[in-house]
Amino acid sequence: MAAAPEHVDVLIVGAGLSGIAAGRYLRTRLPAKRFAILEARRAIGGTWDLFRYPGVRSDSDLATYAYAFKPWTRERTLASGEEILGYLRETVAEHGLERDIRLGHRVVRAAWSSADARWTVEVEVEPGDGGPPRRGRMTCGFLFCASGYYRYDEGHRPDLPGAERFAGTIVHPQHWPADLEWAGRRIVVIGSGATAVTLVPALAERAAHVTMLQRSPSYVLSIPSRDPIAARLRRLLGDRRAHALVRRRSIWQQSQVYRLSRRHPRLVRRVLRALARRELPPGYDVDTHFRPSYDPWDQRLCLVPDGDLFRAIREGRASVVTDRIATFTASGVRLASGAELPADLVVTATGLNLLAFGGIELVVDGAPVRLPDTLAYKGLMLSDVPSFAFMIGYTNASWTLKVDLVCGFLCRLLAHMDAHGHDACVAPRDRRDGPTRPLLDFQAGYVLRSLHRFPRQGDGPPWRLPMSHREDVAVLRDGPVDDGTLRFWRRGEAPPGGQAADRSTILAPSASSSASARSPSPGSTSTARTADVSTVTANPSRSASRAVFRTQ
Ligand SMILES: Cc1cc2nc3c(=O)[nH]c(=O)nc-3n(C[C@H](O)[C@H](O)[C@H](O)COP(=O)(O)OP(=O)(O)OC[C@H]3O[C@@H](n4cnc5c(N)ncnc54)[C@H](O)[C@@H]3O)c2cc1C
Repeated sequence: MAAAPEHVDVLIVGAGLSGIAAGRYLRTRLPAKRFAILEARRAIGGTWDLFRYPGVRSDSDLATYAYAFKPWTRERTLASGEEILGYLRETVAEHGLERDIRLGHRVVRAAWSSADARWTVEVEVEPGDGGPPRRGRMTCGFLFCASGYYRYDEGHRPDLPGAERFAGTIVHPQHWPADLEWAGRRIVVIGSGATAVTLVPALAERAAHVTMLQRSPSYVLSIPSRDPIAARLRRLLGDRRAHALVRRRSIWQQSQVYRLSRRHPRLVRRVLRALARRELPPGYDVDTHFRPSYDPWDQRLCLVPDGDLFRAIREGRASVVTDRIATFTASGVRLASGAELPADLVVTATGLNLLAFGGIELVVDGAPVRLPDTLAYKGLMLSDVPSFAFMIGYTNASWTLKVDLVCGFLCRLLAHMDAHGHDACVAPRDRRDGPTRPLLDFQAGYVLRSLHRFPRQGDGPPWRLPMSHREDVAVLRDGPVDDGTLRFWRRGEAPPGGQAADRSTILAPSASSSASARSPSPGSTSTARTADVSTVTANPSRSASRAVFRTQ
């Protein structure tokens, strides 16, 4: 007889910044909870392990991008990908999370049973010896999806006419070859977002020349790379107290800039233009290359430490061209204006492909969940999807600010359920609720391309995604868990509000609808066998994890 699948109280999907935080919060606040963190890749760190392009760094200050519970003690305001990865590894080690993280475990399907008040989760496990993945299964009382927001297997690459004729190399920053040599080469970076403005000055240090080719400009703002006040406070007050103070100051400053941008966009536009102008050579065409048509914070501002992008332009090592690609030629790119950009290397910094919940197929009591038919509850649960939470960070502030709040709320929710003997919870959607809108109110192309595959948000609380740390603090940290919307029940009881009956109108039980909520699962195999998932290894210094299978 097959052994029962391994059961944990909480199953966390993803060992990036969010999943690691979730593990740390559970370990410190609810030490009796059994949990596991399933990570599809063979390394922890998510974004900060995947992206390896030259100069890769945060574009948030580390006062807010570091966790609330672990001070950032390094000097520089923005941090390199390597430094952030080191910080995440330290967090794992400090809280003994290695034994909870299972590398090479991709969650592909999660099915909720109201009768059992638990999820059954199907996992593809890479054996670590290069062999085909096998199917495993686990169960859990609560599922927390910390799987990020984009596809790991491919970045967004727009149609590049004539690319097959190009004799040089084309790379995407998401898959930067470790041995790619760019010194002395003529490089064109296509794009104008955070990745492009990071790459251009880094490549310009050794390239013959770097051209940033953009269809339209972004707002680029120079910020100091060091924070002398933070350094002084650390010396005076120690790391912990200084971190709390500097973090609070930074949150306040950023929210003021954001608010000012939304209330007085023309004023902020003028200021940003004047600041850019000051950094650029006399006579530079600021309006063509650095004055976007949208308002500040309709898309994320691009921050550059000590104006490194502007400096590269001033010194003639880099230039910006605002135009469209007509076609690739053998030796470079021909533009719509007729101009030619000679290139040996082209970097497509053209963005990400968004993916909701790591492409996991969600099923509730036999009915596939169609994500666009769900509403986000408090920005962390889904309507009518029981005992499930997710982590999607801010688009206008550091992702981590939300991570701390969501993980704190998750612990409060679980503690509340324990205290009252509840086994499950759900935020039922009232069909009379008002109009809905896309989950993210953000105009970036990569967001707009995929938003129709994501859950939606409602007009008012608790169905609105506020994108405001202040509002989230009031609701997630200081507000009640039992707010009148969230319903709870015990195993064996009927789910509240006739859940199962209502659900048929909410969740379309068709195979095609479930497919739309699913992503292609790289490495998936139809020959996968089903086994229980057990045993852990997550030593970031070793690439292989061990997995023990009990084949059914
Ligand atoms: C280059 C770059 C720079 C960025 N800089 C900033 C910044 O400065 N400030 C900011 O606020 N945000 C920034 N972001 C956004 C960034 O992604 C978040 O800040 C943060 O790293 C997200 O962490 P996460 O753990 O939620 O997701 P991720 O880092 O994406 O990690 C998710 C993890 O889940 C795993 N996973 C996914 N699906 C599954 C599955 N089905 N089964 C098992 N595991 C799965 C993935 O393999 C991955 O390890 C940046 C993003 C990029 C790409």
